[in-house]
Formats: sequence, C-alpha cells, structure tokens
Amino acid sequence: MKTAEIAQRFLDYFEKNGHTIVPSASLVTDDPALLFTVAGMVPFIPYLSGDVPAPYPRAADNQKCIRTNDIEEVGKTPRHGTFFQMLGNWSFGDYFKEGAIRYAWDLLTSPEADGGLGFDQKDLWVTVYEEDDEAHDLWLKLTDLPEERIQRLGKDTNYWSTGLPGPAGPCSEIFFDRGPEYGIDGGPATDDDRYVEIWNLVFMQYEITNVRSKYDFDIVGELPNKNIDTGMGLERIAFIKQGVDNMYETDQVRPVLDKAVELAGRTYGANHDDDVRFRVVADHVRSSLMLMSDGVTPSNDGRGYILRRLMRRVIRSMRLLGVDGPTFEVLFSASRDAMKDAYPVVETDWARISQYALAEEATFLRTLAAGESILDESLSDTKAAGGTTLTGAEAFLLHDTYGFPIDLTLEIAEEAGLSVDRAAFDGLMQEQRARAKADARARKRQLADTSVYRDLRAQGETVFTGYTDLEAESQVL
Ligand code: ATP
Ligand code: MG
Ligand code: MG
Ligand code: MG
Repeated sequence: MKTAEIAQRFLDYFEKNGHTIVPSASLVTDDPALLFTVAGMVPFIPYLSGDVPAPYPRAADNQKCIRTNDIEEVGKTPRHGTFFQMLGNWSFGDYFKEGAIRYAWDLLTSPEADGGLGFDQKDLWVTVYEEDDEAHDLWLKLTDLPEERIQRLGKDTNYWSTGLPGPAGPCSEIFFDRGPEYGIDGGPATDDDRYVEIWNLVFMQYEITNVRSKYDFDIVGELPNKNIDTGMGLERIAFIKQGVDNMYETDQVRPVLDKAVELAGRTYGANHDDDVRFRVVADHVRSSLMLMSDGVTPSNDGRGYILRRLMRRVIRSMRLLGVDGPTFEVLFSASRDAMKDAYPVVETDWARISQYALAEEATFLRTLAAGESILDESLSDTKAAGGTTLTGAEAFLLHDTYGFPIDLTLEIAEEAGLSVDRAAFDGLMQEQRARAKADARARKRQLADTSVYRDLRAQGETVFTGYTDLEAESQVL
C-alpha cells in the first residue's frame, strides 16, 4: 500500500464519518516563537483553546510536520523523520473517548477490501494513562483486545498539558508489535524498538489550575466542551504496511536513498554506519525539499538556518560515504519525483527550489575547499615549527569564520599526523553557545507571548538546542 493511498484511506474513512477534510497548513507557522508546525494540532490551536469557535464539529487532515528535536534519532531508529506527515481526526466538543477509540480501532483493523488498513488485532497494543479507567474499560468493551495488551503508563508518556492553566487530559496510544526478533515480549511499556507507536489519541478532558509543573497541577473540573486530538504517523503506517524495516525505505523516501547508494557506489545493508548515513541523507533531502516548497530559504538564522544545517548534513554525510562532488541535483530530483504526486508544488516550483538547493551546495563545497586550504597551511606551519598539535583557536577559527566542520579538521589533521587541541576547541565552542543563548533569550523577550500552548513552544525552542544538536551531530558524522 503506497503512502498516498494510506493517507487517502484515512481521509476517506473520516469523511464518511462526518468529518470535514481540512488541507495541511504550511510547515511555517504564524507564531514566530514556534518555528515549524511540529504536530497536527498546531493549526487547530485557536479552536482547541476555545479562543475561536471551530467552524466544524469534526475534522480530519494530513498535516506536514517538522521536528528538529528528533534529529538525533533519524536513521538510527526506524521511525523518526525530521519531516513527516501526521494524520489526525478532531472533535471540537462533539464525540469524545468512545468515538475516538471506536474510529481508530475500526480503521486500523477493518479489512483492506473494506477501505480499512487491515491490521491484525494480535499485532496491536494500547497504552492508557494509569488513572484513566474509563479509557481502559472502553478499549475492553469496544474492541477484541485482551486486557494484557492494554498497559497503564504515567503522565510522562500518557498525559497532555501545556504547562499552563487551561485544557489538559490523558492520552491513549496504539502500538504495532514488530515481533520477537526486535526485542522482548513486554509490550510498549518495556521497549520501543519492537513496539512502534503509531497513533496517539489525546482526550482533552479537564481544566487545570495551580500548575506547578507540566505534570503537577490541580484539576478544576471537566471541560464543558471536551475535544479530541489524534495523531497517526503516516510514514510509520507506511513502513509497516509496505513490509520494510523503517520509514526511510518507504515509497516516498527510498528513491532518494537509492540514488545516494548509487552515487556512493556502496551497498545498502552492508555496514551499519553507512546505512545510518544513507538514511540521514534520504530524510534530510526530503525535509529540505519540503521546507523550500513552503518558502523557507537557506540563511544564517531562524528557519533558514535549520534548512541550511539539514542541507550541510547531507553534504557531510555524502562525503563520509566517499562522495566529494555535487550530489544535490540527483538527490533532490529523486525526492521531487517521489513527493510530487502528494505535493505538486515541488514540481511546479522546481525551478526556484532547485536553484536554492544548488546554490547552497556550491557555496558549502567552496567553503569546504577554502577551509581545506587554510587548514593545510596551518598544519604545515605547525609541523615546520616542530609542533604536533593544532591549537584550539585555529580549529575554532576554521569552524566559526569559515564554517569548516570540526570533524573534518580532526580527520585531516590526523591524516597529516597531527592532533588537535580538542579541549580548547570545545571551550571556545561553549563560550560561543553561551553567547548565542543569551542573544536568543534577549530576542525572545521581545516577542509577544500570546499562545497558551507552551509545550508546543517548547518544541519550537528546541530549535535553539537544534542548532547545537545539529552542530554536535555534524561533528560526529
Ligand atoms: P515517539 O515516542 O515514537 O517519538 P511521539 O510520542 O513523540 O512518538 P506524538 O507526539 O505522540 O509522537 O505524535 C503523534 C504521532 O506522530 C506518533 O504516534 C507517530 O506515529 C508520529 N510521529 C511522531 N514523531 C514522528 C517522527 N519524528 N517521524 C515520523 N512520525 C512521527
Ligand atoms: Mg517523539
Ligand atoms: Mg511517544
Ligand atoms: Mg506519542
């Protein structure tokens, strides 16, 4: 079952059940503090908070998302993309727990011939918030799940709140069991390699007050208008239904991976580190393409900086796979062809998108070439003076002024038989980060803070650690 077909089945199912189909919002949010749409709920915040009456009692959508805070997982777990699509069904004061559970189970387990997704109930597990007896009992009553496959978990995984007074409530999540070859038999409570989370049902049930922390507060009472917010990972369903091992091998992503393998002249599946890099390349190319199709362009701050780092990670990964020359034309074209049916804009806007991609690649390849020649000089000067170590300041200058990655400095120095004063370099990096953080805090104080959805904010804030994560990652890559 192709990814697009799964999305269509989802939307058809909910449309048939009285939901208004809402097109995906842009990856770029209106809220300057929340850089990207990180979940399906983002465009619905005004309705969920009650600020604006929802124009429909029920809706369903396929929302494009970017999560930079999952970047460390990309390629290493089977299930984390920086870009992914979150299918969702929404009830604004209409149906509640019973409806949400019924719909989710029906769609997942109905035979493919009847428009369902054809999951075998034996492969599914669910979790509920430990105190949510109502959800627990509904799963038992409405489905054929045996009690031992309904696990109770705590607030950290199964409760949603913003960390501010307002709506909050328990979640219930559905997992797919990939089988004993992936881990022990203890259910999602014990292992998340074997049990893949596929769908999160959030029951916005209570009004909370006296919020001491995100998970420590007093409940005022039940909300007069209870809402349902669900999120199902399209790529996760796709990789399971397509019988492949991970989301990077699905029809919308794999063609990019294959092109990277071809360019590298290596074999996918032969070496773990190479495989992770191939998956990172495939993921980041697609994320970059989708960001550019929503109007983001590479730059030195904000959204454009995230895009730039994603593209540079592709280049670094390809170099580590043995390819020093340009690759973007081939990789981005492959991604365009894999995504254009679902998002025609990647084709109609191709001239502009590819221009940015190719310019960015050319710039970074020049940066690498320039950095390499400066480094060569520093290395021979050091040697000529009888030294064995490149100073931290020299490595930092290369990084900071020339954008030359530290891992390359380390690699090239080692080839020349020299070491690098890594401790001094790290010290300088830390100082720079502290400065960047202080700047960011100052900037943030100037932004109007009107949204109550601080946990989404928190996801947006990870953009700043995202800078350093991306940097940290590009150092180890
Ligand atoms: P996980 O625990 O696997 O990281 P999550 O709990 O962070 O997932 P939610 O925030 O509950 O995910 O998002 C709802 C759904 O979106 C998930 O159940 C999953 O199917 C999907 N999803 C979340 N993050 C990603 C991602 N980075 N890539 C692909 N799909 C994702
Ligand atoms: Mg997660
Ligand atoms: Mg989870
Ligand atoms: Mg979840």
